[in-house]
Amino acid sequence: MTVDLSAQRTRDAAPSSLEARSSSLRLDCDVAIVGGGVVGMTLACALGQSGLRVMTIDAQTMQEAANRQNVYAISLLSGRFFAGLGVWDRISPRISTFTKIVLSDGDRAKRVAFQPMDLGADLGINHLGYVAEHQPILEALHARFGDRETLTSIAPAQVRDLTHYDDRAELTLEVEGRTRIVTAQLVVAADGARSQLRQAAGITQIGWKYWQSCVTFKVKPSRSHGNIAYEKFRTQGPFAILPLTGDRCNVVWTLPHAEAQAVMALDDAAFNAAMREHFGDHMGDLDIISPRRLFPVQLMQSQQYVRPRLALAGDAAHCCHPVGGQGVNLGIRDAAALAEVLSDAYRAGEDLGSIAVLKRYERWRKLENWVVLGFTDVLDRLFSNEIWPLVMARQAGFWGLTAIAPIRRFALQFMTGGLGRQPKISIQADRHSG
Ligand SMILES: Cc1cc2nc3c(=O)[nH]c(=O)nc-3n(C[C@H](O)[C@H](O)[C@H](O)COP(=O)(O)OP(=O)(O)OC[C@H]3O[C@@H](n4cnc5c(N)ncnc54)[C@H](O)[C@@H]3O)c2cc1C
Repeated sequence: MTVDLSAQRTRDAAPSSLEARSSSLRLDCDVAIVGGGVVGMTLACALGQSGLRVMTIDAQTMQEAANRQNVYAISLLSGRFFAGLGVWDRISPRISTFTKIVLSDGDRAKRVAFQPMDLGADLGINHLGYVAEHQPILEALHARFGDRETLTSIAPAQVRDLTHYDDRAELTLEVEGRTRIVTAQLVVAADGARSQLRQAAGITQIGWKYWQSCVTFKVKPSRSHGNIAYEKFRTQGPFAILPLTGDRCNVVWTLPHAEAQAVMALDDAAFNAAMREHFGDHMGDLDIISPRRLFPVQLMQSQQYVRPRLALAGDAAHCCHPVGGQGVNLGIRDAAALAEVLSDAYRAGEDLGSIAVLKRYERWRKLENWVVLGFTDVLDRLFSNEIWPLVMARQAGFWGLTAIAPIRRFALQFMTGGLGRQPKISIQADRHSG
């Protein structure tokens, strides 16, 4: 393992005081972020704009962290936030947009289509969201990270201990077989759903594991996807088709665990045939162009997002069903909110790790996340069964979405991130682009 403190800054940048102090095995920063995924790196870049000294720590090298094969539906709000961070120009040429969302109820003829004008014809918006692979996002954030002297990274490193004092937190790391101590006003856990820091802090969660898993893979159809995102609700679980660059599609196929395992075990020809039944033939022939991957899914909400000198963000704080593609967008909103709260506190000379400051973040995000977690849960349960009152309820819902414009607009604002408290940085990016 290597301590990778230099690779993250531009080659000609002068070494920071942080880097100089690293040689004494004692590193000091304002905020230490454990987890260099989308959420951790977004938070680091956002805090960097306020001049805070930030250190990210990841169990993987930065290259490994960037090479993950995840695909995300990215909301309009997340796009605006990335624009405010100055990374959107690097991301947008490498990702796809969708200009239409089509929802369908199993094999019933009923379909609902959303178009940008449903958000309000006067807004001049010509797309409804983006589909991004993990790599372009992480690489853009890494490049931004490298531009700022106040941001440093240790990767790969293992967190061995976290100790809280009245005035600071101390992280004990193992790096290349040696012990290193990082001292910070605040430690942020952005280390994913199985967050070691959340568990070590004894923060309990509410939630459940779903009876379903997701099988994900990419296909190359012979006809264009037309930049349409499809969500086909089926009794076993939703089947989502997201348009990627290069006229590829990412598929998220939700099935009960045993059926998902069985599908994973099929040979390529049988898998292709089974998948086609759900995909349909509107895009012509389909070539599967990636390995299949299997994910169990869960709903999880942490009872607390903050403790003195500790804050949780992203999947470390909450997880939701992938229906509706909300997961990473919630984490990006957490990062935006936490960065805003901490930057304001920093300017006011407050202690960043104090519970008074951190509670402002928890009050902002916890309830908003509950709403989305609840929505994705209801959506999955409503559509994943054939009990007749629920069938009637969803038919009524489809009717409302088709026929009543304010309901359509509300649903679309929800999906695109337009509801809830908007971070200042995304509002500023909006004004700038407008
Ligand atoms: C099948 C599926 C489909 C999905 N589709 C979508 C979608 O379309 N749209 C969407 O918005 N979301 C989607 N999600 C959710 C999305 O993947 C997650 O919400 C998102 O990846 C969370 O990001 P994160 O940065 O919080 O955590 P992670 O991506 O898990 O990153 C955590 C980071 O922490 C590091 N780490 C972990 N443990 C430690 C440790 N002990 N010490 C140091 N570092 C550590 C890891 O190496 C990693 O770099 C989907 C999820 C699934 C399962």
